[in-house]
Amino acid sequence: MTNEKQTQKKTYQFKAEVAKVLDIVINSLYTDREIFVRELVSNAADALEKRRHYDLINGRGPDSEESLEISIGVDKDKKTIVFTDNGIGMSRDELIENLGRVAHSGAADYLKKVAESNKKDVNLIGQFGVGFYSAFMVADTVTVESCSVDEPDQAWRWTSSGSSRYTVESTDKTRPGTDITLHLKKDAESFADESYIKETIKKYSNFVSFPIRINDERINTIQAIWARSQQDVKEEEYKEFFKFMTPFASDPLDWLHFSTDAPIDLKALLFISSDNPEIAGFGRLETNVHLYSRRVLIQRQAKDLLPLWLRFLSGAVDSEDIPLNISRETMQDSALIRKINRVLTKRILKHLKEMADKKPDQYKTFWENHGHFLKEGIVTEFSDRDALAELLRFESSMTEPGQLTSLAEYVERMPESQKEIYYLAGADRNAIESGPYIEVFRQRGIEVIYNFDPVDDFVMHHLAGYKDKKTVSADSEKLDLPDTLPKTNDDDEKETSKPAPDDVKALTDWIRSKLQDKVADVKASDRLVDSPMILVNPDGAMTGAMQRLMEAANKDFTMSAKRNLQFNPKHKIIQKLNQLRAEDQQKAVLILEQLYDHAALDAGLSVDTRPMVNRVTQIINSMLGD
Ligand code: ADP
Ligand code: MG
Repeated sequence: MTNEKQTQKKTYQFKAEVAKVLDIVINSLYTDREIFVRELVSNAADALEKRRHYDLINGRGPDSEESLEISIGVDKDKKTIVFTDNGIGMSRDELIENLGRVAHSGAADYLKKVAESNKKDVNLIGQFGVGFYSAFMVADTVTVESCSVDEPDQAWRWTSSGSSRYTVESTDKTRPGTDITLHLKKDAESFADESYIKETIKKYSNFVSFPIRINDERINTIQAIWARSQQDVKEEEYKEFFKFMTPFASDPLDWLHFSTDAPIDLKALLFISSDNPEIAGFGRLETNVHLYSRRVLIQRQAKDLLPLWLRFLSGAVDSEDIPLNISRETMQDSALIRKINRVLTKRILKHLKEMADKKPDQYKTFWENHGHFLKEGIVTEFSDRDALAELLRFESSMTEPGQLTSLAEYVERMPESQKEIYYLAGADRNAIESGPYIEVFRQRGIEVIYNFDPVDDFVMHHLAGYKDKKTVSADSEKLDLPDTLPKTNDDDEKETSKPAPDDVKALTDWIRSKLQDKVADVKASDRLVDSPMILVNPDGAMTGAMQRLMEAANKDFTMSAKRNLQFNPKHKIIQKLNQLRAEDQQKAVLILEQLYDHAALDAGLSVDTRPMVNRVTQIINSMLGD
């Protein structure tokens, strides 16, 4: 029997903090008012989610339940919008408890701040547990009719006009669920527009996993496919979803769809696009991964969800561990978000490794389009360096042109005595292979990785090593080269033509005195075969390629560390130069300076061309007998 007292209409006072919230919502917030749609839909979706759970634990399978859905009625003439759900519903006590007080203690303060700021961004309203009150931004009267699943033959009507009071009375609604009717304010009557509400739903709530109807038309055709199990989603659906949520017209290159329970509850669907607008020069990509909790959108383009270098991913991440009322401020430094970030990053790295191992062709396409993001990862993110190193690909002195090698393959080919991994920057294969630095490696049959991308030297430098092998630029002074080839007779023959040690020392001193402004040190060296001299990098100095990159990025960059000069005492030009310095000191200096400039060019350093041209002119003149 229904209690007589309870069926009568009763008037209640709002708790003080609700009155405060309502006052701000009604009198101070006029921007982004459309968010009431998202808030009421999200509440309805919550209620449906709870209903689903309730039905499950009460032994009602998915087949026996009526279809759970949200329907929105927009009436232009009556100036009303009605949100209906057949969710969990509310009892009389629950109406009073849930709609008569504010659960989040900071809500009123938050809204006050928003109201006082210029940028009245009310987007966070739902994240402070006051989403329901956003209805009063557009309505002067709000009626909530609700029937709890626990008391299916009793329904209640809650009504308020946003003043300090509300009323509750009995009503004769016949099925569990909630109808919320907004009687629009004069200045908000334009919201009673079907297509406008439709657009707003598409913007905020399209992936709510319950059907949403507006005036009986189903509008959210696309399901929350990330929340479904992998086996149930068709390839076409993935592609459709990808195109829906990204600006790309082409199919995705690949995707990763998984769910975990530990260490956190997570459902994620992450797409790798085929295109990379960033590489095509269309500015910087923004991360396009949205964060959901129970299919309700928490944050679009959630920046903290993934490291910046993974901004080429698009998709959805859904975690039930995230409270729906989390604020963006707390999200930024939330341990939970960091945990999700780690889990996602690890899974993606693993996925890419699998692609590289099992689908090398697809990986090559990936690498060509997105490889620079991984390189950025190595330079910016210490924690993933080892995993990222496995994903790097380069041409090398042992690959065919256009073919790529991994560091793992490189190491596998190394002779046992080799302790370092060598790399060398150059514009292309030809530039590297015709330069002087490769000589000693070619002679000894040691593989060198080719760095064609200007950032590659930075990457190798940051990497510092792979497994227990150091990564060393081939233009470094100190090379711990393995003796892979026995000395040949040929070497012995050359040995005899080498000037006496005394002479080498005198020559070294002379070169040093003439080039002291330009080089840090001068040494005779046996690493050269065809070239008379090279510039090498003392320990820790930037490679020529790195220096060029710095110069390009910063005009005032002047920190060019002096390099060491190594010359080949067996080289014909050096021997002639040695003779010449006794006969014609001036000419010898001219030639030495010219040789130095050649070495600087080979090292990729910028060379002042004016003195060089003058010098060449002098040399030509002297050759022509001037
Ligand atoms: P939040 O959703 O963050 O809890 P709201 O102000 O949006 O804050 O809603 C307050 C409470 O009102 C909800 O927690 C829920 O208990 C109840 N509620 C709101 N709308 C509905 C609905 N359609 N069905 C059932 N309960 C609802
Ligand atoms: Mg809410």
